[in-house]
Amino acid sequence: GPELFGTRPNSMGWDIEHAQTLTTVEHDRNVWRAHQWHAAPLLAGTAAPQPALTVDNPAVPADTPGQVRFASSADVETALSAATPWAADRATRAAVLNRAADLFEANYGELFALISREAGKSLPDAIAELREAVDFLRYYAANAPEAAPVGTFTCISPWNFPLAIFTGQVSAALATGNAVLAKPAEQTPLIAFRAVQLMLEAGVPATALQLLPGAGDVGAALTSDARVGGVAFTGSTETALKIRSAMAKHMAPGAPLIAETGGLNAMIVDSTALPEQAVQAVIESAFQSAGQRCSALRCLYVQEDIAPNLQKMLIGAMNTLTVGNPWDISTDVGPVIDEEAQSGIQTYIEAARAEGRVLHQLDTPSEGTFAQPTLLRVGSIKEMEREIFGPVLHLATFKAGELDQVIADINGTGYGLTFGLQTRIDDRVQHVTEAVHAGNIYVNRNQIGAIVGSQPFGGEGLSGTGPKAGGPNYLTRFTKRHAPAQAA
Ligand code: NAD
Repeated sequence: GPELFGTRPNSMGWDIEHAQTLTTVEHDRNVWRAHQWHAAPLLAGTAAPQPALTVDNPAVPADTPGQVRFASSADVETALSAATPWAADRATRAAVLNRAADLFEANYGELFALISREAGKSLPDAIAELREAVDFLRYYAANAPEAAPVGTFTCISPWNFPLAIFTGQVSAALATGNAVLAKPAEQTPLIAFRAVQLMLEAGVPATALQLLPGAGDVGAALTSDARVGGVAFTGSTETALKIRSAMAKHMAPGAPLIAETGGLNAMIVDSTALPEQAVQAVIESAFQSAGQRCSALRCLYVQEDIAPNLQKMLIGAMNTLTVGNPWDISTDVGPVIDEEAQSGIQTYIEAARAEGRVLHQLDTPSEGTFAQPTLLRVGSIKEMEREIFGPVLHLATFKAGELDQVIADINGTGYGLTFGLQTRIDDRVQHVTEAVHAGNIYVNRNQIGAIVGSQPFGGEGLSGTGPKAGGPNYLTRFTKRHAPAQAA
């Protein structure tokens, strides 16, 4: 069922973490500002080939953080035949994964610089992501059940958390003793390559962890083979559906698919909400990471009587955001991942502009793949057909008597990832949070940034298969379920 977080006003912002690490950040930026990384398939018993393709920095066209060689179909075959579940006992596997966490921490500066230059994430975002990756390693190491692994697991991850989601999937599969075939997003292979190098250095056997950088075709090959026992996938709902049919066709019946997908996330702000708190929560939820979080707020519902004031405050708060190169310490909002994402978002905004629905927009640098942080008017969430994965927030209003209709419309999207509520009426908290279908519900705070171990994360409906990442039920999906022992 859904998990409920918050209930008290809170002043969480991203500059708290920021201030603590400013000195080391400055040092590490100098060390890693021009470093060149590389990535290639890492296959058991095979030397990594020379990289061939240039990897882009989405914020700075002149900066290329490195080069990559994508996996060929021969590489996929080599990896599939070499994959061997990790025979070490549970405690040994846990010790190795903890050592990998130590190595991630020891290489802190390099990793956050790499996340920022390859994925265009702001420095505070990159630092938070690195902490999440370390938390996943330690949490799954500590909580793996004593049970037989499924066998070989394919792990396919998105670019928006190129280290944390990649590491979370891989470490869950390894903690439970599976062999892993890891396929990172095509936009972010460098960070995945470094993560795998560090895990191998920590002692994960090369036959238990192989890396296959590449685009969707490599992912498709790794999810259509009977030698694969299960798939962990995070990405779009559309890709998850393709993987499900490929698995049904080629893999054993009942092979587990753990899919974490997209959302159309809403927040309701009623007329009793604290306006300053609501505005801060909205700004963080909609625009942090340039809106490229699956949890990000897409549709804000404000009760009609406070809407004009709240809209004015929201526009004022948008105007204080710095949009720019995420490598600069003052940047709040960086670029979107690539030109395809940028043009998709721009086309969407232009269509809204033609209908006179643009309420406010911020300017962006002229170079790099930036999307303008934008506030759009919308009548209802029903008008939003798909997730726009960028800094675009929709604003709708509702009258006091329409609350249940709003909830029905939110549930009617079929998605169910995150939901936010701002109110000071206790009964309303209970009523609304019981009625809304969403995996993670946040009250009187922002609706992003789940925490491994204490705020497990995952959605329902079109948003995912469950169980939640970073929670107690996730690891069992990576193991074989044995029938209960027969009574004698
Ligand atoms: P995507 O679905 O385009 O790609 C995700 C991964 O799937 C990539 O590695 C890609 O190469 C691979 N892929 C593409 N086609 C494939 C195929 N036919 N078979 C196998 N693999 C294939 O998603 P994206 O654009 O990288 O990521 C953004 C999406 O991810 C958004 O929808 C976002 O909401 C979602 N997301 C969800 C969560 C969550 O926890 N629920 C977290 C982060 C992102």
